[in-house]
This record gives sequence, C-alpha cells and structure tokens, in this order.
Amino acid sequence: MTTPLVDPFQRRITYVRLSVTDRCDFRCGYCMAEHMTFLPKRELLTLEELERLAGAFIALGVRKIRLTGGEPLVRRNIMQLVQAIGRHVTSGALDELTMTTNGSQLERHADALVAAGVRRINVSLDTLDAQTFRQITRWGDFHKVTSGIEAAKRAGLKIKINAVALKGVNEHELDRMITWCGAEGYDLTLIETMPLGEIDEDRTDQYLPLSRVRADLEQRWRLTDIPYSTGGPARYVRIEETGGRLGFITPLSHNFCESCNRVRVTCTGTMYMCLGQEDAADLRAPLRAHADDAALIAAIREGITRKPKGHDFVIDRRRKRPAVARHMSVTGG
Ligand code: SAM
Ligand code: SF4
Repeated sequence: MTTPLVDPFQRRITYVRLSVTDRCDFRCGYCMAEHMTFLPKRELLTLEELERLAGAFIALGVRKIRLTGGEPLVRRNIMQLVQAIGRHVTSGALDELTMTTNGSQLERHADALVAAGVRRINVSLDTLDAQTFRQITRWGDFHKVTSGIEAAKRAGLKIKINAVALKGVNEHELDRMITWCGAEGYDLTLIETMPLGEIDEDRTDQYLPLSRVRADLEQRWRLTDIPYSTGGPARYVRIEETGGRLGFITPLSHNFCESCNRVRVTCTGTMYMCLGQEDAADLRAPLRAHADDAALIAAIREGITRKPKGHDFVIDRRRKRPAVARHMSVTGG
C-alpha cells in the first residue's frame, strides 16, 4: 500500500480540484476582466496528462475529484477525460467525480456525464433574472443555462446551485432563489466574493458579508444548523419552510482551514496547497519528463509537506488590490 497523503498538520488530503482550462464562455465581473489573455495551448496539460495526474492522486488515496476551470465543459473533448476518471468511480478507487460548471453546455453533456459516473454537479447561478444574469456574466445566456440545469435534472444528476452574494446586485433575490431551489430539489450555497485576481471592478463595492445575509434571511425563514458536510468549507442549515439545504461559504469572515482536506491543481499542472496563498508545486515538469509516475508522485508528496496551516485573505481597502493575484479561473473554483 502507498502511504496516504497527510500534511504537516495531520490533515489527510483526499480531495483534488482539478482545473482543466483557464478559458470560459462567460466573463463574470467578479471572476474575470472582460478582455482576458488566456494561456497558449502548449502550457496546458493535455487530456492524457490530466488523466495521468488524476490517476497519481487516486493512487495516493484521493477519494474525490472535482473538475473545474474556467468552464470545464468548453474544453475540447472534455468528456474523454470525464469518462477516463469515471472508470475509477466504477472500480471503487474513487468515491466521487464531480464538476463545477456555469451550465452553458449542460444540455448537450448531461446524459454523458451520468453515463461516465458523475452523480452530482455544482452549477453557478447568481440570479434568476435574465437581465441581471447578463449584467453579472457579461456574455452568458440565462435561458441556455436554465435549459442546461433542467437537462441535468432529467438526466438524474443531483444539483447544487452556487450563488456569489453580491451587494446591490442579487441580495434582494435570495428569497426567490431559496424558493426556487426548494421547489426544484436543489441545494443552494451562497459564496462571499474572494479577492482573487485583478478584475475591472472594485471588489470592496461587491463584498457582502454572509453573516449579514444570514441575519436578514432569518427574519423570514427558519434556519436550523445541521452537521451536513460535503467535505468542503460550507456550513449548512436546513430551511424548515422548504426542507432544502442552504450552505454558506465565508472565506473572508470565517476560518475553515482546520479541516481542509484539499489541494487545487491548475490547468498547467501547478498544485496550490491553499487557495489563499501563492506557494505552489510544479507537477507538469515531472509529468512531462518521465513516462512513469515516480517523479510525479514525489513532487505531489513534497508539495503536501508545504501545505500551510491556513490562509489570510484580505481585501486591502486602501490599495484596493487583491490579496492573491491569480484569478479564480486559473486556480479553479
Ligand atoms: N466556470 C465554472 C463556474 O462558473 O461554475 C467553474 C469555475 S468558477 C471559477 C467556480 C466558482 O467560483 C463559481 O461558482 C464562481 O461563481 C466562483 N467565483 C469566481 N470568482 C470568484 C470570486 N472572486 N469570489 C468568489 N467566488 C468566485
Ligand atoms: Fe467563467 Fe465561472 Fe469565472 Fe464565470 S465564474 S467567468 S463562468 S470561470
């Protein structure tokens, strides 16, 4: 047996978020600038390299892999990779293969995702208003996304809606989203904006603390804390009126690092041991230098020895600069 991945703080690493592209068909204001320069293709791991990387992590005891991006479903031939990693779910080596998507391509891929072994997906949707959707995503088509979500539901995927809480943009719509998710059977998670990467807007204008959101929701909804966990940083409540679950991800106002079981790998094969820090390990060089995985596995293990205890996100209000320069679309959400 290979020894499992355990970091210096005795946290076992069982979850990898793997970004498969930095590109996207949307330009959400909190995530990207409108005019982005994307990486040249040779910088990106090929689908075969991504498959090898996933295999190495699984050999090291990783039980859950989430594909993300950029928009994972815009990567050409992405379903090949989903099918390849999905085989580890079928064999029992992996508990879960899942994906975070903006939903734009779900209509054509939903059935194939299920066939490949995907059981749950997260779909990012910040609003139920087509115009506000266009304003937030700049390029997105609301109806394409809702058709995609419906197709995913029909295909049998369990759906969690992720919504970034944005001051003055969707904060007045949260009741409607709770009602909609409750009726459709979707979980809902609210996310605070995180200071990742330079964007065109001012983040301190968008930041809406979820403690305030929760206090406001409690005026109208009965929220009961529940111990539910998906292995992620969200704290969950049950909404008694709908029976649905509501999660809160509060990286700025809360510290969830103690139980962190994850690492993130970018589409260029850089492993970030913490979303909020710059320290990283290059996995692409060992992946490309050797046909066998010994050097790759050594590089993963070495990186894990540098996993920090926690992060220190700040939006610097004076300089209005992000604490971490890379975009979420590079590290993967
Ligand atoms: N394109 C896919 C999507 O939108 O679901 C996957 C990648 S996206 C970077 C993953 C998640 O990160 C999305 O839910 C998005 O809303 C969130 N996100 C992006 N930038 C963020 C930021 N600055 N703060 C908080 N969440 C952010
Ligand atoms: Fe694209 Fe997702 Fe970023 Fe929006 S949040 S621009 S959909 S990667």
